[in-house]
Parts: sequence; structure tokens; C-alpha cells
Amino acid sequence: MDLKICHLYPDVLNLYGDRGNILCMRRRLEWRGVGCEITELPLGAADPLTDYDLFFIGGGQDFEQTVLLADLNAGRSDNIRAAAEDGKTFLCICGGYQLLGTGYRTADGQMCEYIGVLDLYTEGSADRLIGNYAFRLGEESGGGIVVGFENHGGRTHLGSGLTPLGTVLKGYGNNGSDGTEGVRYKNVFGTYSHGPALPKNPHFCDHILTTALERKYGRAELAPLNDNAEKTAHRYMCQRLHLN
Ligand code: GLN
Repeated sequence: MDLKICHLYPDVLNLYGDRGNILCMRRRLEWRGVGCEITELPLGAADPLTDYDLFFIGGGQDFEQTVLLADLNAGRSDNIRAAAEDGKTFLCICGGYQLLGTGYRTADGQMCEYIGVLDLYTEGSADRLIGNYAFRLGEESGGGIVVGFENHGGRTHLGSGLTPLGTVLKGYGNNGSDGTEGVRYKNVFGTYSHGPALPKNPHFCDHILTTALERKYGRAELAPLNDNAEKTAHRYMCQRLHLN
């Protein structure tokens, strides 16, 4: 068994150690004897995106998000949409999550017109939503609590047909007002959670890996790991956020 991971835009989208999510996925696969091949696709790299099982897109600042527009509109968004519709797994963080939508108007009023892989849009504001936060994953995303760190000016609103990734327990999530966090569509996971998100949320990491392995092999059962250190980090953050 193996997974082919594509890291999209590693050169421009990588905030707060988002790249650590890739290391975490790779290690948790390798510890179980599952192979993992990582391909980095920077801005402008031609690729039809058909050969990968799992895609990762990190977060970025408004400036980087405008720099990406030409690349997205030159066919990349169509390839991302095709892969998402085909059931490929995506983990997209913050700016990487926003670019799946129809658009993002930055706090400065600059319009990033995305082509809408998903029916969501983002309105920027100078008033940023910052801090450690937590949300409860929906059952279809494995359930349990995710602890993370958010820092975004954007307020994301999901179209009525979309399911959020989870429900905010502490902090702001998608927009600070409707209690939703992130998005789950087919095997696409979008979230505002930096940190990086996965090392201190091993249950969420394994859920994402399982969706990709099941898509590829039909069945996947990940053997348990000794992740006491990861669970301790998770518990510690839950305590700091007064969740237990
Ligand atoms: N620039 C976007 C915002 O401020 C995304 C930020 C991020 O990726 N942390 O909303």
C-alpha cells in the first residue's frame, strides 16, 4: 500500500508550520509500513493532478493569494475540481481553504475571483480572528475534538448545500457568527486550523489518511500507534481552552 501526496504551492502557501501536516501524514503512514511519496508543485508547475491520492494546500497572506490567481485560472482550478469530484482527498488550510470557493474580497477591497471548486465565499475584514481555538468534527469526519490556532481576516460562508467540517467549541471558525468551522465535501477537508493541525490531532490525521486509502484500496484499517505524546499535547490544549 502507498499514498501519493501532492503538496500544492509549497513556495507561497505555508504559514505557521502548515508543512508539518505533510510530515505528520508521512510519518503516520510509514510507522504502519504504508509507503508515501510526496511531490511538491510550486506556482507554475504544469501537472494535470491526475496521479495523486491526497492533496495538501497550506495557508497564506492576502498578497500570496492574489499572486496565485493567474495560476489557478490557467486551468489549475479545473484540475483541482476534477480531482475533488473524483473523490480524491484534500486537506486545505485557511488561505488554501478559501481558494476552493468562488472568491475572496480582501480587507483592502481587492477581489480574488476563484472559480468555485466549492460553493463558499470569503469576505475579508481588518478585524482579524486570532487565537487558539477548538471545534468538534462532524460524525462524517470521524467526530472528536480538534484543537488548533486560527488567524484570519476572512469570514467564510458556506452555500446551503455544503456541510461544515465541524462546530466551534472555542474561538471563531468560519466567520465568528454561525458556529461552523471549515468544510467537508466528498473527501475534501477545509479548515482554518494552523499549528500545524495534524500532529496534535492524531485522530483527525488518521481519519484523513483512511479516506485516501479507502478511496484507493476499497478498505483500510490503520493499526493503532503509540501516540501518547500527541494525545498529551491534545489534552493539554483542551485543558487550556477549558474543554474538560
Ligand atoms: N489571508 C487570509 C485571511 O486573512 C488567510 C490567512 C491564513 O491563511 N492564515 O483570511
